[in-house]
Amino acid sequence: MIQRASKMALQEVMPASNQNPAEVSPTFFSCTQADVRYNAGVDIIAAHLDHRRSYDDFYYVYPVISRRSQGVSIGVNLNPDKICNFDCIYCEVDRRTAPRTRSVDLVVLRDELSAMLGLWKSGELFAREPFASAPLAWRRLNDIAFSGDGEPTTCPVFEQAVACAWECREAAGVSEAKLVLITDAACLDRPGVKKGLELMVRGPHEIWAKLDAGSPEYYRRVNRTAVDYNRILSNISRTAQAMPLWVQSLFLKMHGQPPSSEEIDLYCGRLTTMQTEGAHLLGVQAYTVARPTPEAWATALESHELDSIAEVIRRRTGLEVRCSYGPSFN
Ligand code: SF4
Repeated sequence: MIQRASKMALQEVMPASNQNPAEVSPTFFSCTQADVRYNAGVDIIAAHLDHRRSYDDFYYVYPVISRRSQGVSIGVNLNPDKICNFDCIYCEVDRRTAPRTRSVDLVVLRDELSAMLGLWKSGELFAREPFASAPLAWRRLNDIAFSGDGEPTTCPVFEQAVACAWECREAAGVSEAKLVLITDAACLDRPGVKKGLELMVRGPHEIWAKLDAGSPEYYRRVNRTAVDYNRILSNISRTAQAMPLWVQSLFLKMHGQPPSSEEIDLYCGRLTTMQTEGAHLLGVQAYTVARPTPEAWATALESHELDSIAEVIRRRTGLEVRCSYGPSFN
């Protein structure tokens, strides 16, 4: 019932249309605090909720309506084997079902990406649900994002995949669309990854590097990985010294407990240290759980709790903080 009411409200303010999305202005919709609050009551739309990383019989490429970018994001899954170097307590990847393939075939990836860009340009993508529910303003193409069923930078052909995405973007005539990397930062020090990033930053791009904790102990509890915490900090800092990036942080409750003020203080200290080292941090994407987690005790923060954390981060670091709230919008 809530979903139906929200969808109707959205259609009232931004009526869906059959207009070709290629004609929609590619202007980036700034995701300010006010924007998020405004959208909080109306963005539960079918297209946004449907974050399945699959489309027809495609192996690697999938479209989503992104709440954060308020546009279409074409995802590229470089981890079809569903293996990740993290095991986050909030991970939404369905690892109960077997993967259809375990490796990345660059020829197939190129075909799928070209086809998906064609579907978006022609408007055919919006001919059926869940994309038919997307309002016109959210049908613009925002980005091609490397984010899938694992950590994209662990893919052995990451560098070639970036080149492939670059070439498909140019061939489709959508050079304003960003190439986005969403990463847990563990492999940003690998030579092949660095080369891929060097290509990516020659055009419109964004790098979102995950940092969910201010202490190694909390990091191990949330991200459950053997990767050394200091390696994550070092990789984010060093990469940001060469290319500006966003820090992406998920804050949540564990067994009903939000992160302590001491943990948030430590987290802010990590960001401040990076800035002192010369890291160019564009800001923090602070978000919380929006979909079911594999651990029932890992739950979303209330909106006011996320707001409080965001305010501390702003005050302590001077960074812009953009919030994406949980499912209840309370
Ligand atoms: S890094 Fe991403 S894909 Fe890997 S476990 Fe965490 S949320 Fe899942």
